[in-house]
Amino acid sequence: MRKWIAAALMFALAAPAAAQAPKMQLWRLDCGQILIKEFNSFFSDTLEYRPGPRTIPASCYLIRHGDDYLLWDTGYPASFKGKEVDRGAAVASLRVTIVEQLAQIGLKPADIDVVGISHMHGDHTGQAAEFPQAKLVVGKGDFELTKGERDPFGPWRADGAKLELMHGADIDMFGDGSVVALNLPGHTPDHMALLVKLASGNVLLSGDMYHSTEARQIKGVPPFNTSRAETLASIDRFERLAKHWNAKVIIQHEPADIAKLPAFPEAAQ
Ligand SMILES: [Zn+2]
Repeated sequence: MRKWIAAALMFALAAPAAAQAPKMQLWRLDCGQILIKEFNSFFSDTLEYRPGPRTIPASCYLIRHGDDYLLWDTGYPASFKGKEVDRGAAVASLRVTIVEQLAQIGLKPADIDVVGISHMHGDHTGQAAEFPQAKLVVGKGDFELTKGERDPFGPWRADGAKLELMHGADIDMFGDGSVVALNLPGHTPDHMALLVKLASGNVLLSGDMYHSTEARQIKGVPPFNTSRAETLASIDRFERLAKHWNAKVIIQHEPADIAKLPAFPEAAQ
């Protein structure tokens, strides 16, 4: 009897450690602002948004999974800090770098284990190369199209680089289903969004599936997307997954959505 109790006690002590879920946290980072000079014609191939200029945020995210840290999107380059960079249809700017924000919560660039990039556009890739030791997870087509001058992924072109390319299937970032990069092509060849399962509920980071609340309401498609048909198929999948997981959807360029997450340096848990 005593032996049985001892065995049961040992099991009881051992079990919680084995079953313990990793601590999850999600921070939103400021990764720039974009003034779109004519939002409607820039973002709608059916011209259904209200006319005039609009300034939208470029947001990035830091996800803690136990001892591992994943950076999701990397905004504009650090060299944009304090400048207004006119790119014709849009003006880009940056107030604070990712490295500066990480320092505020006691992290160094070397603490980042994985950099996940939703897609190849410059407002998502700018600071990726600040984390050359991390594994890069990005769409295969997006990785191939950014080769050459102004390559944001230079550190990962070398043989043996830590690199995982998405094409046609989701990627389970930590192998336990808690953080999943979703295969949602159309905005770019291998665009992806990110599911994050927090203790407080599921969060779905949109990538650029949409750029605004209006876009989500009308299934708006930007004229510069690589495939209208793939975009609409991806919107269908995204919305079904959002419903299935009862997820809080964060459209990364929509101020009303990023305000659903705590202001940095607070984290959602
Ligand atoms: Zn974007």
